Amino acid sequence: MTRVSEDYHSEVAIIGGGVAGRSAGIFTARHGLETVVLSAGSLLLRRNAHLENYPGFPAGVNSRLLLDLMRDQAERFGCKFHDAEVTRLEPIENGFSIETASGDSRSAEYVIAATKNATGYVDGIDGVTIVERGEEFVETDDRGRTGVDGLYAAGRLAAKPHQTIIAAGHGAEVAVTLLEEHGGGFFHDWVAPEGYFTGRGIDVPPGVEEIDEEERRRRERESMKTMREYFAETHPDEPERHPNVR
Ligand SMILES: Cc1cc2nc3c(=O)[nH]c(=O)nc-3n(C[C@H](O)[C@H](O)[C@H](O)COP(=O)(O)OP(=O)(O)OC[C@H]3O[C@@H](n4cnc5c(N)ncnc54)[C@H](O)[C@@H]3O)c2cc1C
Repeated sequence: MTRVSEDYHSEVAIIGGGVAGRSAGIFTARHGLETVVLSAGSLLLRRNAHLENYPGFPAGVNSRLLLDLMRDQAERFGCKFHDAEVTRLEPIENGFSIETASGDSRSAEYVIAATKNATGYVDGIDGVTIVERGEEFVETDDRGRTGVDGLYAAGRLAAKPHQTIIAAGHGAEVAVTLLEEHGGGFFHDWVAPEGYFTGRGIDVPPGVEEIDEEERRRRERESMKTMREYFAETHPDEPERHPNVR
């Protein structure tokens, strides 16, 4: 029997909680859309030994720490994470129904699929094209849209190059596409200094926040304190092995 979980509906469901999914969740949750990430299985980046090509870390960064940072950042904006394997997605009126391996049923208005090369749950949906190139990918346009309104694919699943920054960037791009379609116009998630727009007599654009100098300094101090805590100790987790390595 299908069970309906307590919080069964969200505006956005992101399937796959890797780099692409976490990045997308930061953007949709920051803009106030109720967002849930449904993910099962290990994260590919947990196998990396030391991540040396993600911009912003001159000496590289522990990839497991980066994953923690991205999840905590998404959660800070209200994004929820659930351990759930999605077995079936179906377009319904005003969104999608989402079945999981545990028998739960959920729904969402928008879905971002970010499951690397796992496509079984979208197989056969009218408007979704699966491309076979050694591995399976979901065909999208240049903004991550599939052929189904409200259904997007992000990261490696959308055949993006196999790099962390690209998966993260694409997750963000797809989320911004969704936000523009939801809001009906262009959208920049920016934080600007006070007066940047209003000082020129321009309304603050959708998605943009202006903050004054006191608030800017407060945020800077908080970020410095927070990052000192994250980087105070080495990460406890070892890199995960490839499943075929004994
Ligand atoms: C050993 C190794 C080292 C690497 N080193 C680097 C490096 O140095 N630099 C670099 O840029 N990149 C590196 N990468 C590549 C990088 O890890 C990937 O490109 C990136 O993590 C892809 O992100 P993604 O979000 O698209 O997919 P993933 O991180 O794979 O996330 C997809 C998630 O979806 C889950 N999922 C699948 N099916 C379902 C389902 N039905 N329901 C729910 N969840 C599901 C998966 O289990 C997974 O957790 C490395 C990869 C490996 C393996």
